[in-house]
Amino acid sequence: MDINIAPIEFSNTSLLSSIFSEVQKAFSSGSRTNIISLPLEVKSAYYSDRGQYFSTQIIADTIKLTGQISGKVLLLVEFDLFVPVFTYVFGEAQLNGKHSIVSVSRLHEELYSGKTNENLLRERTKKEVLHELGHNFGLTHCKDWDCVMHQSQGVEEIDIKGSYYCKNCSKIIDIHNHIAASETLF
Ligand SMILES: [Zn+2]
Ligand SMILES: [Zn+2]
Repeated sequence: MDINIAPIEFSNTSLLSSIFSEVQKAFSSGSRTNIISLPLEVKSAYYSDRGQYFSTQIIADTIKLTGQISGKVLLLVEFDLFVPVFTYVFGEAQLNGKHSIVSVSRLHEELYSGKTNENLLRERTKKEVLHELGHNFGLTHCKDWDCVMHQSQGVEEIDIKGSYYCKNCSKIIDIHNHIAASETLF
């Protein structure tokens, strides 16, 4: 199954290319990873009272553009995201669906310690990207701290959790991939 990464107003090209290779590596069996460009307009999802973008609305607007695209579509953005019940979210995904979004806005180490750390930014982004894609592949939150599907409310929890899917979660992804592959045969 194709995994399409769509950078939206995303200027950090070296981060984008390392995320591309990490996703490619993680889904090496039976999946192809692409970087695509989507003519997505996000202005209407901006809430000036909060200074943030409403991620559910962005996903809803994306759905209108991706009918012809097969596989998963993950939006990568630099602006801050929220959903009404939370002050912020690192990302959002359709469970067992096609679309997800990840923001790197709160993954920058300089926000927390004042010091830039590109390795940590890459590691955190990779974990959040794999996490949201996992939801697309039907995974819910995992209790295993070594699993990337563990829920993270803050960056410290992203840093603690593992950077890959545990055995159980990997199995569910394989099944999902297998079902999707057989569906396209008939
Ligand atoms: Zn989650
Ligand atoms: Zn797991």
